Parts: sequence; C-alpha cells; structure tokens
Amino acid sequence: MRTSEQYLECLHAMKPNVYMGGEIVRRDDPRILPGINVMRITFDMASDPQNRELFTAESQYIGGRINRFCHVSHSVDDLLNKQKMIRTGARLSGFCIQRCMGTDTVNALSVVTKEIDEAHGTEYYQRFVEFLKNYQKKDQIAAAVQTDAKGDRGKRPHEQVDPDLHVRVVSQNKDGIIVRGAKEDITMASYCDELIVFPTRTLTEEEKQWAVTFAIPADWDNVYIINRANAPRERKFLKAPLNTYGSSDAMVIFDDTFVPWDRVFMCGEYDFAGGMALTFASSHRHSYCGCKPAVEDIIMGLIALSAEYYGLEGKSHIREKLAHLAGIAELIYAAGIAAAVESTKSSSGTQVPGTIYSNVGRRLAGENTYDSWGMVADVAGGFPVTMPFEEDYYDPKTGPLINKYTMRNPEVSAENMHRLQRTLSDYLSSAWAGVWQVADVHGGGSPAMETIAILNNYDFDERKKIVKRLAGIQD
Ligand SMILES: Cc1cc2nc3c(=O)[nH]c(=O)nc-3n(C[C@H](O)[C@H](O)[C@H](O)COP(=O)(O)OP(=O)(O)OC[C@H]3O[C@@H](n4cnc5c(N)ncnc54)[C@H](O)[C@@H]3O)c2cc1C
Repeated sequence: MRTSEQYLECLHAMKPNVYMGGEIVRRDDPRILPGINVMRITFDMASDPQNRELFTAESQYIGGRINRFCHVSHSVDDLLNKQKMIRTGARLSGFCIQRCMGTDTVNALSVVTKEIDEAHGTEYYQRFVEFLKNYQKKDQIAAAVQTDAKGDRGKRPHEQVDPDLHVRVVSQNKDGIIVRGAKEDITMASYCDELIVFPTRTLTEEEKQWAVTFAIPADWDNVYIINRANAPRERKFLKAPLNTYGSSDAMVIFDDTFVPWDRVFMCGEYDFAGGMALTFASSHRHSYCGCKPAVEDIIMGLIALSAEYYGLEGKSHIREKLAHLAGIAELIYAAGIAAAVESTKSSSGTQVPGTIYSNVGRRLAGENTYDSWGMVADVAGGFPVTMPFEEDYYDPKTGPLINKYTMRNPEVSAENMHRLQRTLSDYLSSAWAGVWQVADVHGGGSPAMETIAILNNYDFDERKKIVKRLAGIQD
C-alpha cells in the first residue's frame, strides 16, 4: 500500500495537463491541495494499525491486504465495511471522502465486463482484471468519469446536433481506439492516478459509437482537465482541520485521445451501456448510504453544539430537530445495510448491493439535504453569516469588543464561540458549502434517476394483489 507521501510523489511526477483560472498548473497547486488532503486521509487511515480492519481488505486478485478503496466486494461483509469506512472517512474530512468514486467504478466494471464477455464472446473481463491487479498493487486512485456534456436533455446521443456531446469512439485500428468528447463535474480528476470512463445512459443499436468504457492515466496525451477547486474559506489565525480539506471537480476533455486496446473494456456493446451506468449508480448510491449519514452527523453536531453554546439546550424545537435528523441519518444508513444484506453475487463473483435499498437510501438523503441544512440555519441564527472577518477578532481594538458581545454561554470561551460560528459560516454560507449541497442532490444521479430506478425495480403489482385480496376482489 502507498503512504500519503508516496501518493504525493506520484502526483508531482505527472505531466501537467490540469488547467485552472486561465493557466496550466502542476498538481501541487495550492488550490488543489485541499482535495489532496482528503485523499491523504484514505492512505493514513489504512496505514494506521487501529483502522487496518476497516480501511484495508484482503484482495482476491493479488492476495494480501490492500486499501479498501481499491477493493472489489465479494461478500456482504465487504459491502457493510465499505459503507462503514465511508461514513468514518466523511466524518473526518467534514464532507465527501471522494475516493469511493473509484471504488464503485472498479466494482461496476468487474461485474459488467464479465457479462459482456458472456453475451458477446469478448475478452474484456480478463483485460480488466489485469488493469485491476496493477491498480490494487499500486494503491491507485481513480476518478469516475461518467457524466457526459449531454447537450439537449430532450434528445438521445444520436439525435444531438453535435455527436461529440457524448464521449464516443471516432476511429479504431489494431493498436487501440481514438475517443472524442467531454465529461463534466468529474471529482478528483486533477489529483487521481487514473480516469475510468464509461457511459452515462442506456444506448440503442444506432448508438454503438457511444458505447465505450476505458481507463487511462490522468496525465495522458490529448486529455484536458479543466479544473475548479473548492474549499472552506482559508484561515489566517483560527486554524482548524476542516479548513485544510476541500475538493476539485473538472471538465475532462478527450480531444482525439488514443486508448490502447488493453485499456478498453467496452467498445460498441451498446446493450451493456445502460447496465454499466446503472451498476455503477447502484454501487455509488450504496456508498452514499455511508457518506450522507456522516453529513447528517455533522449537521446534528452543529445543532447540538450551537444549542449548548447559545443557551438553548433542551428547548423543544432543538430536541425535535435532533430526533428528526437522527431518524434521517440512521434510516439512510439502515438502507445501506439492507442493500448489503439483500445483495446478490454477479457471475464474476462481485457482491452487488440491492438496487431498491441503495436507491431509496440515496433518495431519502437527497430530498432531505436542504431541509437538514435549513435546520442548521435556523439554530445558527444570522450572526455566523454576517460575522466580522477573522482579522477583526485579532485586532487589539476590535477583538476584545467582538468577543465581549458574542458571548452567550459564559461557560464557553470566546475562542470556542468564534470557532463554532466560523465553522457554521463555512458550512452555511461559503461557496464550498454551496457546491456540496448541490452535490448532495445530484451526485450519483439527480433525484429523477433514483425515482426511475425505484419505479423500474419495485413490484407495485404485488401491492395491488395485497389490496385485492383484502378487498375480496377476484379477477
Ligand atoms: C459536486 C459534484 C460532483 C460530481 N462528481 C461527479 C463525478 O465524479 N463523476 C461523474 O461522472 N459525475 C459527477 N457529478 C455529476 C452528477 O452525476 C450529475 O450532476 C447528475 O447525474 C445530474 O446530471 P446533470 O448535472 O447533467 O443534470 P441534468 O441531467 O441536466 O439534470 C437537470 C434536470 O433535468 C432533468 N432531466 C435531464 N434529462 C431529462 C430527461 N431526458 N427527461 C426529463 N428530465 C430530464 C433532471 O431530472 C434534472 O431535474 C457530480 C456533480 C456534482 C454537483
């Protein structure tokens, strides 16, 4: 397994192809660093003997312990541990732990490449296993490169005015394929090792050119990573762990990019494009059943601590909110546990989480995002979003005055009140918070996608039969 330092060395050795704010930057740019710091958590936890059980797993492909983020689940316990690890990781980073993007992608590929081979007599699974062995040995990080530019939402890929609006194969030869197109919102693209690219939707026979799945190193030729970095506001004086973390999301453009055959895992098998998209989505929505409870944990912590510091402890509206949020957090988590327990084994041996439970869990999380943050805004009051800048708290003239008038509970030090309110400010009113609140709605597929997955897989006829029997209706 890699250490954080070895991961950094790999990043620094990469060819610059990350563009940000009108310039090409190296992968040690300070704006990218907060996202890298989140990745470091995943290496540091795995190398800490106390967390070894949760953050590492036994590999079926190369033998020995590997980082669990590189692991393909082969049992119910693997799925339960993945979910628990993600909740633990997201509590530490204060939001998304990000690296599960790659975990869910390799899990989906391990299922679908085998299924394509079974249907079409291809050799994708073995190719993928060779890729995976190297990925696990090197303890790599992969970005899930799925969301296409998509163009007109009301039209299919082959109906768009520009065929490049979904990533497609423009030509192929004996050595590999040439791909063109753009993927959007790709988390970690600027600090991952590998980009794993796969379809965003189901495809039809006339859409074969868009049925493509492949992996390439993130600094590969003719790949442009146009990055946007986000982090809580920088602190000058009041340093805190939360303010060392952040994320990056990028537009990833493939400008006639060559991909050698040994890295191609689907090429033209349109009948498996939807399966690839949905298998990833199901696995990723299961991961959400780990990270969203962690976000609710943070929300509950912010409310409970504010209540203590403000003199509101025990007030009925606070108790009501906390009980409601505990219910949301644990029901999402319970859906993840149920998805693990109700999982099935694919023909490749990968354990696939139950679709209904991962989708209802993810849906519950998404639809409660803004309600939950609304509760924090209610309890926080207005001051955290209008509070003076940090420097004013440390100015010899204004600092003591600010501290005097921000006191609420005399048992709480001025610094701790300042810390809480500045953290509330980061979570409620920073640009970074805005990005992550939207991610909580759209990440892993917008709410309509979960609704469709539920409607397609839930047996409503069975429910009608129950009522017919109760009502004495005989067809
Ligand atoms: C912070 C963040 C990080 C992300 N990270 C990743 C990542 O790492 N990798 C990745 O691949 N993606 C990532 N995503 C993308 C995410 O998966 C998408 O945002 C999500 O799938 C929705 O797609 P969209 O943004 O194109 O929205 P759209 O699909 O355009 O949705 C907008 C609205 O249009 C509706 N709509 C769209 N099409 C139709 C239709 N045909 N019929 C009816 N209604 C329709 C939707 O239901 C929705 O209400 C990330 C997103 C965010 C915000």
